[in-house]
Amino acid sequence: MTEKRDYYEVLGVSRNASDGDIRKAFRSLARKFHPDKNPDDSDAEKKFKEVQEAYAILSNPEEKRKYDMFGHSSPGGSPFGPGGFQGVNISLDDLFGGGFDGIFNQFFGSSRRRSTKGDDLIYRHTVPFQVAMDGSEEEIEIEALRNCKDCDGSGSKDPNNVKSCPACDGRGRVERLERLGPFTQRSVSECPSCGGMGKIISDPCDSCRGQGRSQQSKRVKFTIPAGITSGVRLRMRGYGGASRTENGPPGDLYIEIEVQRHPWFERDSSDLLMGLPVGFSDLVLGSKIELPHIDGKSLTVKIDAGSEPGDTIEIKGRGLPIQGSSRRGSVMVVLKLDMPKKLTREQKKKITSMADILGSDTEGIEDRIRQEASRRRG
Ligand SMILES: [Zn+2]
Ligand SMILES: [Zn+2]
Repeated sequence: MTEKRDYYEVLGVSRNASDGDIRKAFRSLARKFHPDKNPDDSDAEKKFKEVQEAYAILSNPEEKRKYDMFGHSSPGGSPFGPGGFQGVNISLDDLFGGGFDGIFNQFFGSSRRRSTKGDDLIYRHTVPFQVAMDGSEEEIEIEALRNCKDCDGSGSKDPNNVKSCPACDGRGRVERLERLGPFTQRSVSECPSCGGMGKIISDPCDSCRGQGRSQQSKRVKFTIPAGITSGVRLRMRGYGGASRTENGPPGDLYIEIEVQRHPWFERDSSDLLMGLPVGFSDLVLGSKIELPHIDGKSLTVKIDAGSEPGDTIEIKGRGLPIQGSSRRGSVMVVLKLDMPKKLTREQKKKITSMADILGSDTEGIEDRIRQEASRRRG
């Protein structure tokens, strides 16, 4: 008997190859040795099984760690059970499309008794913009499947009158071996006798009709940190749906935060951007403008004399809190020229006389264009 080859060697990758590299190597080798491409070639068949086995181990983080530590002589014996690796039926199409991971993922699940985690839930929660500044304590009410209170999650009127399902030995899942050509595929599915619960209830609880779970509303309190951005998901461990199997862990609740828009600020992480439309005289002569601000103190925007539309004024330390720090971002004010849309006769007269003072004729226009170009080009 020849010695079993190293899994990394089988796939032709280094020991520190990334998951992506391992997957790529497997895909290309599995295509090369696939029985559809090598009919009646027992050597290719052996190689095909060998790369499958290597990939089954190296694509599974837990098995990979064990293999990296112990090699082929893992103390628990073969991870595939006493029969060793049986091969997986996997089509060429799956290898092209990449639909093969699921087949390998369920490989090891069946050998261990595992309770199923409850469903994860996602809940979208909208908060006013002010919360991004101050943070807040929130409370919401969610509907989720929870353990029935009347039967304590057992699903039975009398919790002592529950039998383990004989068809699946209480696992809730059954395993089947399917033979397809030279390959055997192990498939795991929900136990049809007990519907995946792993137990037989002869006298079901009235409130949950034997499910052990029912839709219940629950208040959830959580803290939103200052500086929060839209789209962030807060994870509340164990606040999701109850597990179908008794003693299985509940799922998690994800609260996705949506921060409402401010009437004028746009956000660039902790910086706040705004446009400030001002009159021509504010730009020419300079000006000070006071605005109400999200931190409760008024914000003073100081426009220097001779400012131009498009100039940006940075006001440091008055933006939003920077998460994980005591500092704050900036407010960035972009100056805009507020053009009057309609002029009264009186205004027209005054602007005409102002034009006379400032000179708006075309005299020296080329010089002005040249100066503008050289300023723009730096
Ligand atoms: Zn119940
Ligand atoms: Zn069952």
